[in-house]
This record gives sequence, structure tokens and C-alpha cells, in this order.
Amino acid sequence: MSSHSLHPDTHEAGLADSCDRCREHAEEPLLGLDETNLTNLVARLVRREDYPDTPRSLNEALALDNLRQAVEGNDKARYRLRTIIQDHKLLVDFDRWYKREVRILGLGGSAYPHSGLERR
Ligand SMILES: [Zn+2]
Repeated sequence: MSSHSLHPDTHEAGLADSCDRCREHAEEPLLGLDETNLTNLVARLVRREDYPDTPRSLNEALALDNLRQAVEGNDKARYRLRTIIQDHKLLVDFDRWYKREVRILGLGGSAYPHSGLERR
């Protein structure tokens, strides 16, 4: 496990680029991220219109793409997502997002195709 480089608090500024630990969080957002960061990301995913600055970094874009994939992922990932969604009253937003982006558009590709994000 890497450690964070010096950068603004992820709870305020989101995942930073040029930080190995933030990169690890972006790759596996459901494994190591704390509740606050994860909740922020889920809210940005399902209520994108409320967060026009999303994504604030390439690592945030990657994390959001991976969360998006996790919706159809294994049971553990789905359970963690469902817990966050219910605990933070995001169910209505989630359902609307799911119908629009997952059921209609599918899970292929990036949620942020213009972010210049390149997967390693
Ligand atoms: Zn970091």
C-alpha cells in the first residue's frame, strides 16, 4: 500500500492526481476509501447535475468509472454500494441514474470520455 503525497484533503478536493495512494483508491474505490470519500463519489456519480466540476482529477474520473462498473459487479461490491446509497438517502437519485445511464446506455466505455483518462 502506498501513502498519500502532499496534496489537499481528499474529503474537500477529491482524489489527487500524481499521488500513488489516490491512484490505488481510484482503482478500487470500494476497498480502501473511507465512508466520507466514498459517499462523496457516489453522490457525484448519481447526482452529476449538482456537481458540474466533476471530475476534478483523472483519478476521480477513474474512481467514478470503477464505481459505475461495480453497480453490476460482485455481491460484495453491490452490497457496499447499496449500503452507502440507503444510508445517505440517495436511492431516488440512484434509481434515476441507473435507469438513464446503466439500463439505457449500458456500462461500456467511460462516464467521462472527454477527460483524457487513459487506463493503465
Ligand atoms: Zn492521495
